[in-house]
Amino acid sequence: MSEGTPITMTAQGLRVPDFPIIPHIIGDGSGPDIWRAAQRVIDAAVSAAYGDARRLVWQEVLAGQKAYDQLNTWLPQSTLDAFRSLLVGIKGPLTTPVGGGIRSLNVALRQGLDLYCCVRPVRYFKGIETPVKDPSLVDMVIFRENTEDIYAGVELQSGTPEAQTFFNWLSDCFPKLANKVRFPDTSGFGVKPVSREGTERLVRAAIQYAVAHRRPSVTLVHKGNIMKFTEGAFRDWGYELARREFGAEPIGKGPWCRLPNGIVIKDCICDAFLQEILIHPKDHSVIATLNLNGDYCSDALAAQVGGIGIAPGANINYKTGHAVFEATHGTAPALAGLDKANPCSFLLSAEMMLRYIGWHEAADRIVSAIEKAIADKQVTADLAEMIPGAASLSTSAFGDALIARLA
Ligand code: NAD
Repeated sequence: MSEGTPITMTAQGLRVPDFPIIPHIIGDGSGPDIWRAAQRVIDAAVSAAYGDARRLVWQEVLAGQKAYDQLNTWLPQSTLDAFRSLLVGIKGPLTTPVGGGIRSLNVALRQGLDLYCCVRPVRYFKGIETPVKDPSLVDMVIFRENTEDIYAGVELQSGTPEAQTFFNWLSDCFPKLANKVRFPDTSGFGVKPVSREGTERLVRAAIQYAVAHRRPSVTLVHKGNIMKFTEGAFRDWGYELARREFGAEPIGKGPWCRLPNGIVIKDCICDAFLQEILIHPKDHSVIATLNLNGDYCSDALAAQVGGIGIAPGANINYKTGHAVFEATHGTAPALAGLDKANPCSFLLSAEMMLRYIGWHEAADRIVSAIEKAIADKQVTADLAEMIPGAASLSTSAFGDALIARLA
């Protein structure tokens, strides 16, 4: 067996060897069940596509409960270092430590590696019954800003000296703003940083994606009618970037605009957008949005096409090349160790990873195997509930069913 070599970033983009080392976190709860099945499917897809010429060389790194049990830390520095030096990796779901010193392992990973884009494609697999009339109309890719907004963690707890100091400062410096705080003695405070740089790099990635994949539009989703200097600025900076870097021209009086290649840049207020995706899903293709909106929209859209069991995700820094692909669901603790969890979210994240490193033939095989298994009604229990007459397979049997459909 060949030893692996790291993926590297060059001025021309990623340089991917034939045997790249891929750091992976197995994850907590149902993570090990999912990993066991998914690894076999991914390796078989690569082998079916390239024979012995290419292989992923997996390197396990620790995080979550397993890291805590073995090393007494939820996110070891060695794990961050591995993702930093090896560039591209994948992770299963992680338990969020309760009352620990770390707010969320996922947020820590995203911030530690400055993975500013959370990319979540949402597509429908034929045969699944969903809550909407025609889920096949949903075909969107969400670009969620990953490092700013209220998720940045600039929060002060109610009743602490820090919250009091903050309020005193606000009263001294901005008395009119301080007057807007209804119950200052018992308020907690959260700061919502939204910067021009943070917005531009996210919107740039979304537009570049739309151009590369010939998508018809990019929708900037925001709540700028209320939060004018954060979410409103996100919208304005997004439009400015489209005009300045991509040559967009206003449509009518604007602010909607069109790129020379026809791609439309538009915007939508987030609450209206949650109606739009139900009523006019065809009108939206690539979505660029802030951190919190992106969280809500991803789950709502995932539910429209069959739930979080099949929703993949990636956290990417397009400048450095760093990328961590992830199952977007949680640890599903009730299914842990039962060989029942659905590995599709993890597998479709692996599909995204294979495309990111340019291994499209292997990626295509994974998607087509999932499509065939769903069409043949051979699925895990969560999907069987949404497919009339479907068999309910264990995670490992579903893995076998996919491998049989890879050819
Ligand atoms: P969850 O996603 O684990 O579970 C929600 C529901 O979806 C449950 O009914 C579960 O059984 C089902 N489900 C989830 N994944 C499934 C799969 N692959 N196959 C079949 N059914 C699946 O969310 P939760 O219960 O809110 O969170 C449990 C733990 O996971 C918490 O510690 C939470 O902090 C953590 N979490 C981690 C991530 C992540 O690592 N990306 C994301 C969300 C939650």
